[in-house]
Formats: sequence, C-alpha cells, structure tokens
Amino acid sequence: MTAKEIRESFKKFFESKEHLIVPSAPMVVKDDPTLMFTNAGMNQFKDIILGNATPKCRRQADTQKCLRVSGKHNDLEEVGHDTYHHTMFEMLGNWSFGDYFKKEAISWAWEYIVDVLKIDPKDLYATVFEGSPEEGLQRDDEAAAIWEQFLPKDHIINGNKHDNFWEMGDTGPCGPCSEIHIDSRSEEEKAKTPGRELVNKDHPQVIEIWNLVFMQYNRKADGSLEGLPAKVIDTGMGFERLVRTLQGKTSNYDTDVFQPLIKAMAGMAGCQYGDDEKKDIALRVIVDHVRAIAFAIADGQLPSNAKAGYVIRRILRRAVRYGYTFLDQKEAFIYKLVPVLVEEMGDAFPELPAQQKLIMKVIQEEESSFLRTLENGIRLLQGVIDDTKAAGKSEIAGKEAFTLFDTFGFPLDLTELICREQGMTVDEKGFDVCMQEQKNRARNAAEVKLGDWVNVKDAESEFVGYDYTEYPCHIVKYREVKQKKGTAYEMILDQTPFYGEMGGEVGDSGVLVSENEEIQVIDTKKENGVAIHIVNKIPAQPEAEFMACVDVERRRAIESNHTCTHLLDQALREVLGEHVEQKGSLVTAEYLRFDFSHFEKVTPEQLREVEHIVNARIRENLPLEEFRDTPIEEAKQLGAIALFGEKYGDKVRVVKFGSSVEFCGGCHAKATGQIGMVRITSESSVAAGVRRIEAVTGAAVEKLMDMAQDLQTDLRALFNNAPNLVETITRAISENKELQAQLDEFKAQKAAMFKEELVKAARKINGVKVVAGVLPIEPQNAKDMAFQLRTQFPENLLVAIGCAVGGKPTLTVALSDDLVKDGKNAGQIVREAGKLIQGGGGGQPHFATAGGKNADGLKAAVDKVIELAQL
Ligand code: ATP
Ligand code: MG
Repeated sequence: MTAKEIRESFKKFFESKEHLIVPSAPMVVKDDPTLMFTNAGMNQFKDIILGNATPKCRRQADTQKCLRVSGKHNDLEEVGHDTYHHTMFEMLGNWSFGDYFKKEAISWAWEYIVDVLKIDPKDLYATVFEGSPEEGLQRDDEAAAIWEQFLPKDHIINGNKHDNFWEMGDTGPCGPCSEIHIDSRSEEEKAKTPGRELVNKDHPQVIEIWNLVFMQYNRKADGSLEGLPAKVIDTGMGFERLVRTLQGKTSNYDTDVFQPLIKAMAGMAGCQYGDDEKKDIALRVIVDHVRAIAFAIADGQLPSNAKAGYVIRRILRRAVRYGYTFLDQKEAFIYKLVPVLVEEMGDAFPELPAQQKLIMKVIQEEESSFLRTLENGIRLLQGVIDDTKAAGKSEIAGKEAFTLFDTFGFPLDLTELICREQGMTVDEKGFDVCMQEQKNRARNAAEVKLGDWVNVKDAESEFVGYDYTEYPCHIVKYREVKQKKGTAYEMILDQTPFYGEMGGEVGDSGVLVSENEEIQVIDTKKENGVAIHIVNKIPAQPEAEFMACVDVERRRAIESNHTCTHLLDQALREVLGEHVEQKGSLVTAEYLRFDFSHFEKVTPEQLREVEHIVNARIRENLPLEEFRDTPIEEAKQLGAIALFGEKYGDKVRVVKFGSSVEFCGGCHAKATGQIGMVRITSESSVAAGVRRIEAVTGAAVEKLMDMAQDLQTDLRALFNNAPNLVETITRAISENKELQAQLDEFKAQKAAMFKEELVKAARKINGVKVVAGVLPIEPQNAKDMAFQLRTQFPENLLVAIGCAVGGKPTLTVALSDDLVKDGKNAGQIVREAGKLIQGGGGGQPHFATAGGKNADGLKAAVDKVIELAQL
C-alpha cells in the first residue's frame, strides 16, 4: 500500500465505525498559551475535553499535522539520528467524547491493524498502566482484560507512570494509556531476544506505533485526582511509523513518504543514501526539517526572532548546518526541495502548492542569511582558537562557546567540530552552566502560578459582543494567577460582551458593576474557545448579578481599525495583484498592522492609490453585512476569503463590506463611515516576500493631520507666510549656499590681510623670525597661514597664533625645518603653552595645535610659546 492509500484506509475504517472525519487543524496554535505548535491529535479537541465546547459529533477521527520541537514533547535531537522520530509528522487518531470507552477503543485498534492491515499479531505487544500506590491508583486491569482477548499474556506488559499515564498538563484531564508496540526485527534476532524485553527500551526495530489514552481523571492544582464526568478516548498513531511497518521497511526514511526527498537531496549533494552514516544522518535531518519548515510557513508561521517563529528558525538552521558540515552545501539549498515536497504532499495538503512561491522565497532568504552568520561565526571562532592557543591552552572556555551560540546563533556541536579539527576541545560544562543561567533568568521572569478554578455557576460561556457592549451576566468561575509583577484573577462569565483577544484583534477592557461593587476588566483573552477576563479582584459576592460594560470608545476605535484592515486587504489586492495574501495582522485601538505576501517594496504611488480606494469606500459608508453560523461551503460561495493556517469549524462567520468578503470572528464597524479616514503611516519588510503596512484611522488620523498642519503653519510663519513654502525654502537653501561660499572667500581674504600685518610686525630674536599674535580668525585659517609662512620663510621661523571662535581658543605653533633639526619641537611647546588656555593638544615637531577653554589666556600662551622656544 502506498502512504496515500494507508491514510485513506484509516479514515475509511473509522468512518465505518460511525466516526465523523475532520480535517487536520493548523500546526501553529493560536489560542492556547500553553502550546506553540500542535504536538498531538488531541490539541484541537482541547476545548471539548475541558468542557468548554460541545462536540458536533461524539466520535471523530482524523490525521493531524504535529510538530514536536518544543515544550513537553521535544524530539529535535533524536531526529535524523534515529529512524522513527520526526519533527513534523502525521498523527492518525480517533476520539470518543463521552461515548465509547476502553472496550471499543482497544477492539477497534486491533481490528484495524490485524484484520484490515494484516499485521502479524505475533509481532505485537501492548502495555498497560501498572498502577501507582502513592497516587492511590490500581493497575489498569480493565484494559489488560480486554487485551487478553487478543494477545497472549506475555505480550501484555506493565508500564510505569512515565510511559503509561497521560496528563494534559500540570492540571486538567488525565488517565492511564495503553500503547501498541511492534517488533520488526528479523526472525533470527527475535529468537535470540524476546520482543517483550525490548519494548520501551529505545530499540530502533521495536517501536511504539499507537497510543490509546483513556482519560478518566481530572488533576487539581494541589495534585489530587477527581473523576472526570465525561470520559474521553484519545488515540494517536504515528502515520510514518505505520507506513514503514506496512511497507516492510526498517526505517521511516525508506518509505515513499521520504524517499523522493532523499533522492533529490542526495542528487544535489552528489552522494548516495546508505553509503556513509554521517551523510545519511544529514540527509535525514534535511528531508525531515524541510517538511516542518514548509508546513509551518504554509500555516502562517514565518521564521523570526521570537517564540514560535524562533523555533522554526532554529529548525531551519539545524538543517542548514547539517548540509553545510556534512554535505558541503555552502549556498542556499533547502528551498530547492520544496517542489518535490509539493509534488508528494500537495494533494493531501493544498495549502502547500497554494503558497509554494512564498515558502521557497522565505526559506531561501533565511538560509542565505544564516550561511552568512555561519561564516562570521567561523571567523570569530578562529580568533578565539588562536587566542586560546597563544595562551598555551587547548580548551575553549564555555563562556566563549556560549557567546557564539547565543549572540551569533552558532551551535555548540559545530563549535566542537571545528575545534576538534584543530586539536582543541570545548569546556562543555562551562557552556551548560551559562545555558542554565540564561534559562533560569527567563523562567524567573515568566513564572506564573495558577490556582484551581472556583466554580460559581454551572453554565457555558456565550459571547454577545457583536450586538452589545453592555450586558447583564453572572460569574461562571474564577481563579487566581500569581505572577512576578503581582496577582490578578481570571474570570469566565456566562454572557459576555467582552471580545477575547483573537485573530490579531486585541481584547476588550472595561468594568463589571454590581449593586455594591465595581471590578476592572484589564484585558480579555480567548483560550481554548472561552473568553477569559483578566480582572483586578474577586467580588465579595461572586454570585451577584453584574453589568458587564465594555470601554465603548476604545472598542469603537478597535472596530474601525479592524474594518479598515479588511478594506486595505481588498485594495492591496486590487492595486498589487491577486497574489496578495494576509500573513498576519494586529488590530488595536491606536493603530493597525497588516502583513501580506508581496515580493517587492510597495511604491509610494501604489500606497497612495490604496489609500484613495479605501477612503472612497469609507465615504461610501458601506454597511456591515454579517452572516453568522454560515455553513462553510456557503461562505466559500459568497466569495469569502479564508486564511491559511486558520482553524475553521463547519459553521463560520462571514463579514462583508461591499465587495470585501472575509471569514472573520472579529468586531467591526456598523458601516465603513465610522472609520472616518485612513492614513498609511509606514511600509516595510518583515521577511522575504512579506511586506508590512501600518495605518491609523479616525481620530488618530485627525491627530496626525493636526501635527502636519501645525508644522506647516510654524514653517510658514518662519518664512513670513510665504505662499509657496517649497519654493521659498528651496530658494533659501540655495541663497545660503551662495552666501557660505562668499563668506569663505571673505574669510580667506581677511586671513591673508592679517598674515601680511603679522609678518610686518614680526620680530627677530637671535636671527629667528617670530611671527606671533592673537587674531580674530578660524583655526583652519590659522593652520593655512602657518603652512604658507613655512613655505615663505623656510629657515629660522617660529609661528605662534592664537585665535578664538565662539569663545573656544586654539593655539597654533609652527617651526621651520632647520629649527626642528636643532631639536626644537612644536608638539612639546604647544602642550606646555596650551595649559594657559586650559587645554591640551599636540602634533608633529614642525606643526602642532592645542584647543582649550580659556580664551583670555591666549595672549599669555603666545608669549609662552616664544619663551619655550628658547631662541
Ligand atoms: P516515543 O516514545 O516513540 O517517542 P511517544 O510516547 O512520545 O512515542 P505519543 O506521545 O504517545 O508518543 O504519540 C502517539 C504516537 O505518535 C506514537 O505512538 C508514535 O507512533 C507517534 N509519534 C510520537 N512522536 C513521534 C515523532 N517524533 N515522530 C513520528 N511519530 C511520532
Ligand atoms: Mg516521544
């Protein structure tokens, strides 16, 4: 069976068991603060499992794009070195939300892999939870008994809490799990060592393929467990591992999922997969990582310097580094694999072909810039190595290695590799200490302590904020949030007009008012489908009825900016072309930011045109047309624009202003007239192929225009209210230039005059001509004068000129060369004489200057020069 057929057979099987087949959620997570990327199939059902949402069907199944490179699941270091852990992989899963439980979950898993896929049962092992006395938990005999119907007892293995008890997080749903492992060693090896001894022992041929989780408890903040009202089945099977088993391979990379990519990469590097273990690892790393990066970009996560973007950047850099070090790739190469990936996976994941150009461009740019970093890093490292060697040591300090890593993104293993080539080592312990210190600093700053939810009222939370900004409500539950900067509280309401931050739109703020209390709502966030109000205190009477009041002025400004974002999106497409696609947005009360795909700078003319189009639509006062709970197919027929990487349900909300039609859950103006006006304030680049514009609307434009007008008025006043300011200023500038030229000429003439007078007044001391005096000229003129005099009187000459410009005195001293030869030194003289003007200076033996602070001392300083010259 091909990979494609295997994927389909899984869906078909669970469809036959009355499961609803749902699409994969995006890999990039947007509304869960505990998670950056989807790392398991259950993530997209978290709101259902937590009881925040009702499932549309109690049995569901899918294949989910997962990424395990951060947080609880981080397989990054394994990837490439083993043959069955990936960064990005597909997880096949089936779910029961309060419907079937262990019996069906186990029997169907068995039926699928043994009856449908014909995997030999003698190669299969199942693990069950052995129990935990300190938690008061028994062995999962229930699961074991079900397995005994299919497997002999010696194929059922007890597992500990670490492997066989699943938890969502520190708190929340949890329960025992049962994993299916497969032994794909040769018959010979199986005879030598029974498979049961190798289960969960990291043997590359005895691996876990499917995990069945039985959620039946809820873990509270104090660590205790309570029963979960609606039990949940959550299963996850690694698709690539299943494909490998069915295709009779011993490595995931030998399947048709990875072979085309490996062939392409090996071709580029001029090597053969399987010839050299080091190169093979590099090939595996690269073909694994290109999938993760391409899918992340397709889901809207560009590489960047922070959070999820930084994780993607690190994955990409890891791939570049392996290519650079082991496959001799010195120029961007990973992006060239994208067409192969699109060819292989584009059918199942249409977001890939749709954005191929952008994906390639972003990857290529990232690669090139990291390769430059690598080169700089290598140069810096060479400096460190040389210094270390010169100091007679053979070990690079951990701190140096850490600086290279932290500041220049230069990885430790590469540092070690380069050092090893030159007979050096790296103090790894020192490196770890630095790393740990940095982690501790970050952790201390970010630490939060969450209390248990305190239930007040049994109700679901409903958002009423599209229609109301004030609404009566009751508190459903609340909890304490302790952070370094202080304690706040999170609160969920049964009905709320407060919009929780989502889709780039910031959350509402405002107040909750009861008969005798008022509570500040500082912010509102959307987490796992529920609006969480961040408040400053818990009311004395939590059961009371409250009036929830949104800060209306702020909300209106947010609405205007959000609606304007839609109009801009549309106008950009009209002006720049249909390739323009939203790549991110931020909508606040103060301004809006909009990122979109476009491959060059937007010209000022184009920006103007966009502004004009949007402002015209604002003046048209197009009314908001809203379609709530619209079936997704109908929405698409309306021509609504969906975003890649966004998770949509079956029913969506469509927001329409004239011909702008978008899928959108945000808050909008009732008609475009509310926006007042838009002004684009900046256009810049965010990443290769992605531009960013920022704009303001309404009162903010007014403020901007006030500022511009005030500036103009002030300027005009400065120029006697000239009617044509630009012409007047241009003229003033050129006049000024002319005057400056004249002035320079006059100054030179004046200096020449002074020089003549000075020469006339020169004294002779012991045969030396002493040209000295204090003059009202510039230091530059004094310098010119000194050199002219040196040419005019090549022998027996001493020049000492004091001058002051704007109160700043300068002393200039020059000697003819014969006097210098006699041992006199202008530099020394000026340093000493300069003290009289409270200054210092120096120069050469024949010419030197000193600047000072005390202009009154100039005359004395000039006299001192003559004295010091000892003529
Ligand atoms: P392992 O011990 O092999 O790392 P796990 O216990 O982390 O697996 P689960 O969290 O139970 O795995 O995930 C469910 C299934 O997803 C696993 O049985 C496995 O088939 C697959 N899987 C897990 N991690 C990866 C990965 N990094 N790459 C590919 N498949 C994976
Ligand atoms: Mg794992």
